[in-house]
Amino acid sequence: MTFGDRGSLRLVSLDHAAWLALCRDAARAAERALTAHPLGDRADQTGARGAGGDRTLQIDADAEQAIIDVFAASGRTCTIVSEERGDVDLGAPVPRLLIDPIDGSLNAKRGTAHHAVSIAVASGGSVGDVEVGYVLDLSTQQEWWATLGGGAFLDGRRLGPQPERRSPDGRLELVAIEATDPRHLALALPVLEDEVRRLRALGAIAVSLCHLAAGAVDAMLTLSNCRPVDAAAAQLLVRETGGLLEWAPGEPLSAVPLDCDPRTSLVAGRSAETLSAVRAAVAHVTAPVRE
Ligand SMILES: [Mg+2]
Repeated sequence: MTFGDRGSLRLVSLDHAAWLALCRDAARAAERALTAHPLGDRADQTGARGAGGDRTLQIDADAEQAIIDVFAASGRTCTIVSEERGDVDLGAPVPRLLIDPIDGSLNAKRGTAHHAVSIAVASGGSVGDVEVGYVLDLSTQQEWWATLGGGAFLDGRRLGPQPERRSPDGRLELVAIEATDPRHLALALPVLEDEVRRLRALGAIAVSLCHLAAGAVDAMLTLSNCRPVDAAAAQLLVRETGGLLEWAPGEPLSAVPLDCDPRTSLVAGRSAETLSAVRAAVAHVTAPVRE
């Protein structure tokens, strides 16, 4: 079965409230797993590489196991796709859950904000099939979620459509950047200086997207490749608040598989014009850098 081909999966009807409750329980279990590690131990590695290719930190592996344990104990059948382990069959190909146990692992390792648990629940095999998106920022305790057609929420408060703010000279007031390798930033700066008044680099893709959904920033871009696992949950918050996002130009989210493979840069904003403006900043970043 090819999960990248939406037509090959039988779509299922999801109980949004039930899956959201499980996401909450799983995120709190992951938080307990993380906080069991004193800050000085958080750089420990398992010796393996995750499904996304990064070296696995023990904190990522432990948080992932805690999340899987919650869903496995729930009795609900699904398949979990996780950043570290890849596919975990819990009795059915769908729902398909795409999990980043700790988004912003480097921040978590070093003890700085932001870092979050990110869980997407989909009725099919693509990012476009995500129906529940849940992000718990462990550094601020902000709880973000969205359900397809049901809106986006921060700490229980519904997020409405947000205006795009621009400075008097027309530049976007505040833009979040992620994957901030200085070599890529140097290439992007000639465009960004014309388009953006201030940059913010939070170090957690899911959290940056949530901040876009809440109107805290006006656009978001990754300076190099972004994996579906980084954005699958938070993208639903962006869309439920009227925002737009895409990997390759014009590529529908129904064509983006729920997996951990690096793709192009991700751009997000409140208009197609803004997406193309910030995308121009990464036009020269043709050789993504991986650690
Ligand atoms: Mg991670």
